[in-house]
Amino acid sequence: MELLEKYSLSQLNTFHIEAKSKYFAEVSTTIDTQEASLFAKRNNLPVLILGGGSNILFTKDFEGIIIKPSKTGINIIDENKKQIFLEVSAGEKWDDVVHYAIERNYFGIENLVAIPGNAGAAPIQNIGAYGVELKDSFFSLKGFNIASEKWVELNKDECDFNYRQSIFKTELKDIFIIDSFILQLSKVPNPKLEYANIKEYFNNLKWESLTAQEIAVVIKKIRESKLPNPKILGNAGSFFKNPIISRDKFNQLKLINTDIPNFIAGINEVKIPAGWLIEKCGFKGKRTGNVGTYEKQSLILVNYGNAMGNEILQFAELIKSKVELKFGIQLEYEVNIK
Ligand SMILES: Cc1cc2nc3c(=O)[nH]c(=O)nc-3n(C[C@H](O)[C@H](O)[C@H](O)COP(=O)(O)OP(=O)(O)OC[C@H]3O[C@@H](n4cnc5c(N)ncnc54)[C@H](O)[C@@H]3O)c2cc1C
Repeated sequence: MELLEKYSLSQLNTFHIEAKSKYFAEVSTTIDTQEASLFAKRNNLPVLILGGGSNILFTKDFEGIIIKPSKTGINIIDENKKQIFLEVSAGEKWDDVVHYAIERNYFGIENLVAIPGNAGAAPIQNIGAYGVELKDSFFSLKGFNIASEKWVELNKDECDFNYRQSIFKTELKDIFIIDSFILQLSKVPNPKLEYANIKEYFNNLKWESLTAQEIAVVIKKIRESKLPNPKILGNAGSFFKNPIISRDKFNQLKLINTDIPNFIAGINEVKIPAGWLIEKCGFKGKRTGNVGTYEKQSLILVNYGNAMGNEILQFAELIKSKVELKFGIQLEYEVNIK
C-alpha cells in the first residue's frame, strides 16, 4: 500500500474544493484495504472512504486518512432464463456499470444512468432517480469492517436501505469499506416509467417493448437538460433530501400554500420536493459571491468560482434556516459534510 501525505483533494471532489488530507491511500486488494484500515486504527486517525467525491463537501483539511477503494471489475456470478447476478467492484464508475447492463438489455438500473461517482458509494445513500433506487436491484455486498477488523457479507435487509439512507450512514458510518456488491437484474423487459411522466418522452413508441438502452438514452437526455455538469460548474447534485412530513403537517401547510407539490411517502407521510420549498424562500437562481443555487434547480448548490467549502456550507445553512422559518420543516443535507 502506498501511503501519501498532505494529499490534495481538489481533483477528487466535484465541488472542486481545495482541501488536503493528512494521509491518502488508494486500495485495490484485500491486503491493502486491511493495511490502510489498521494504519488508521494504530494511529487513532479518523477515516474517510472516498469514491468519486460527487456527494461530499470538504469544509476543511481532513486530519486523518482517506481510503479510496479502486478495484474494478464486473463479473457474472449466476444467471437463469429470467435473471442475472452481477458482482460489481467498488472502484468501477457507476455509470459504466449501468452501461454494461443496458448494452446487454438487462433491466433494473437503466433509470439510474448518468449518476456520477463510483459503484462502491451507490449503496451508501441507496442512490435513486426517476422512480428507481439501487435497493430495487440489490442482492448483497461484501466489505471490510474497520472496527471489528473482519470481512463481512451483508444481505439487502441487513443494509437497511431507505430513501437516501442505509446502515452505512448510521451504525456503520465511516467504519465499513464496501469492496463489492451483487446486483440482481432482469433479463425480461421490466421498464419503470411511472415517475414524472417519463412515458410521454417515448411519444408513439410502445413503451412495453422498449429496451433498457432506449430508456437510459431518454433519461440521460432529461438529466442533461436539467442538471449542471460538474466538470463545468462544481456541484454535488441535490444538496438537500426531499423532506418527509406527516399528513397532518402537510394538510396545515396546504391551507396556506395551495400549490404545494407532494408525493405519498407512507400511510401517513408525504414527501415534499425540497427544491420547491427553497424556491418559495426566494432562492431560485440566487447567488452570493462564489456560491448559488443552480438556475434550473434550486436543490443544487453550485460553486461559481473558487468558493471555499465553508462558503457553500454557510449558504446551505442560510437556506435551511429560511425554510424552517417559513414552513417549519427542517431540511437535511443529502451531501456529506466533512
Ligand atoms: C450532477 C450530479 C447528479 C447527481 N444525481 C444523483 C441522483 O440522481 N441520484 C443520487 O442518488 N445521487 C446523485 N448524485 C450524488 C452522487 O453522485 C451519488 O451519491 C454517488 O453515489 C456518490 O458517489 P461517489 O463515488 O462520488 O461518492 P463520494 O462522494 O466519494 O462518497 C459519498 C459517501 O459514500 C462514502 N463511500 C464512498 N465509497 C465508499 C465505499 N467504497 N465504501 C464505503 N463508503 C464509501 C463516502 O465516505 C461518503 O460518505 C449526483 C451528483 C452530481 C454531482
